[in-house]
Amino acid sequence: MIETAQNLGFETIGVSNHMIFHKSLTPYLQYEPVFFDDFNKAEKAYMKHIEILNNLKSEFKINIKIGFEVDFFQDKDWRNYFDKMVTRLPVDYLISGSHFLKNDDESFVCNIFHLKHLNPQPDAETLHKMILNHYKNIIAAIKSGYFSFIAHLDYTTRLDLGVDKIYDECKMEVLEAVKEAKIPIEVNTNGYEQLNRPYPDIWMIKELAKDGGIVPIVLSDDAHFTERLGQHFDEAEKLLADLHYTNRFTLDMLRKPI
Ligand SMILES: [Zn+2]
Repeated sequence: MIETAQNLGFETIGVSNHMIFHKSLTPYLQYEPVFFDDFNKAEKAYMKHIEILNNLKSEFKINIKIGFEVDFFQDKDWRNYFDKMVTRLPVDYLISGSHFLKNDDESFVCNIFHLKHLNPQPDAETLHKMILNHYKNIIAAIKSGYFSFIAHLDYTTRLDLGVDKIYDECKMEVLEAVKEAKIPIEVNTNGYEQLNRPYPDIWMIKELAKDGGIVPIVLSDDAHFTERLGQHFDEAEKLLADLHYTNRFTLDMLRKPI
């Protein structure tokens, strides 16, 4: 990834693995090697990610920033561990990326991709509440002060969840929260591959543009493969230019997250 980014002429690349640990993740460990229910084991893996990237820095001219895309949770044990761990991890940045549906006390959490494995499937009311909790969780992450930027604000829509008009209200609350915090948000161009539009949806970007664009935007390709580095940046740039959205954030503008 680093070599390809350098060859494409990027000045800086941020490499962010997922940070997904929670005591309720045990049923899913079989599906995902990046999930942990053992916090110490998770921290060791994160330290390894940082070490590998630090060792690569001398091999490349491109500026390498080291970060994590964190699934933020509100469970007490999670918060306690996370609060302490972030002071030990020498990272350049943390992204808030929410991928989970959950019940109120987080005794049940489920990545949106694993919903299909649930047996029995949640009923409509339970699913509705979990989607609302998902958006409340994004707001909590925005207010937490841990993050350099907030990723894919409406990622549930990737799997056709939270697409109904009734969810516009909680998405508006998310937009209010980012405006209040003036925290940068991601325009994620991976969305063009999946839904033919970025995350968040264009109407949400237009809402932010209405207020003079006080929320800085970072373009992110969310590239999981070398071929996707810089994907659809042209389309996103055109969209932002059409909206006269000039307030931008880049990894070269990072402040230390903590
Ligand atoms: Zn993500």
